[in-house]
Amino acid sequence: MNIYEIIKKKRDFCELNFEELNYFVKEFSSGNIKDYQASALLMAMFINDLSDSETSFLTKAMLESGEIVDLSDILGVKADKHSTGGVGDKTTLVVAPLVASCGVKLAKMSGRGLGHTGGTLDKLESIPNFNIYMDAKKFKSTVEEIGLAVIGQTKNIAPADKKLYALRDVTATVDNIGLIASSIMSKKLASGSDVIVLDVKCGSGAFMKDRESAKKLAKAMINIGESMDKSVSAFITDMSTPLGYAIGNSLEVIEAIETLKGNGPEDLTTLSIEIASEIVRLSKKDLSFEEAKKLVISNLENKNALKKLEDMIYNQGGDVRVIENYDIFKKAKIVEDFISDKDGYIGSFDTENIGMAAMFLGAGRLTKEDDIDYSAGIVLNKKLGEKVKKGDVICRLYTDDIDSILKAKDLLKESIHITNDRPILNNIILDKIS
Ligand code: URA
Repeated sequence: MNIYEIIKKKRDFCELNFEELNYFVKEFSSGNIKDYQASALLMAMFINDLSDSETSFLTKAMLESGEIVDLSDILGVKADKHSTGGVGDKTTLVVAPLVASCGVKLAKMSGRGLGHTGGTLDKLESIPNFNIYMDAKKFKSTVEEIGLAVIGQTKNIAPADKKLYALRDVTATVDNIGLIASSIMSKKLASGSDVIVLDVKCGSGAFMKDRESAKKLAKAMINIGESMDKSVSAFITDMSTPLGYAIGNSLEVIEAIETLKGNGPEDLTTLSIEIASEIVRLSKKDLSFEEAKKLVISNLENKNALKKLEDMIYNQGGDVRVIENYDIFKKAKIVEDFISDKDGYIGSFDTENIGMAAMFLGAGRLTKEDDIDYSAGIVLNKKLGEKVKKGDVICRLYTDDIDSILKAKDLLKESIHITNDRPILNNIILDKIS
């Protein structure tokens, strides 16, 4: 077997088998296949697409390139959720305590934000002293004891994906369904959970801009999970507008806490309840979806889920006073309003650019090495479809960096479209595949 023959086979529309894909992943990881040959193969995969079995084989090879977390010491079913990334997406902060309060164990490894999308780890680290690093022993004992822990992904999870993703990023081979599905699922499957619920975002703030591609991606990820005996469901959810009102790390944690207190925005509350109910249904086989949902809602209403968030913050060293006192969070030095210059309706958002504007204010990073300002971001005052008058505040900007305000406002001007007619609004949940 050699890489030349593998490239030629894929170029000529033939299906690659596990041995060939595993050879490619192993030899590329150890540096024996050069970038130019790996790029050629990736481009052939991109252009000719991967079959279902090729996607599963590539996932398996990448998954086996590193550590596979063994959660078998934790009793019972272990669950995880994954979002393909969006703007204002703080769902994990609500879903994790919700499912834990229903007796389901959630052992979650999360990532940091890059570009226009935020990351759960950055949001959690906005809580003073919150520690996202835990060794495997402490991670498992915490999940066993309180039902949840959210930590950073260990370096050795699917290292081949890391190397291949870096190459895809510079060879225009990222946005292919099979390659995305295998990349995401290799990391999810290496994290060791039995149940995985996927939130595939769709719209102007998401990777997948249209519903059909989002559905295809969801189906590809479900196939991979099921081929490895996992219970997997997916939601296709609307990202044509930021989720909730808050975008930016501590701003989003506050919104998540408010949601667990029962005062959350409707879209975030609905989405969190649906995802949590699906996780509970897949984890407790004796419950129907409706029974699972009843249990989730009762634990939201009786504040058991809020208590779980408090337990998690306490166990990970964070300052639990943030639950009752938002002044504990670092405060932005500058708060500036973004005003409407005409009457009408909020007709549409370029949501990706709104995420970029928050990033310029300090809420995110352009490169992995950038520092972030946990207090920076944007809070919407008007949601999609709301009426606005000239002079109304559309959103409020938070930053420590005065120079960033002009740039953020210019981007917002281009990205928030005021129309004469009220737009037709999407439901937050566009589809569910289980
Ligand atoms: N996220 C990933 O982890 N991989 C991709 O290929 C795209 C998004």
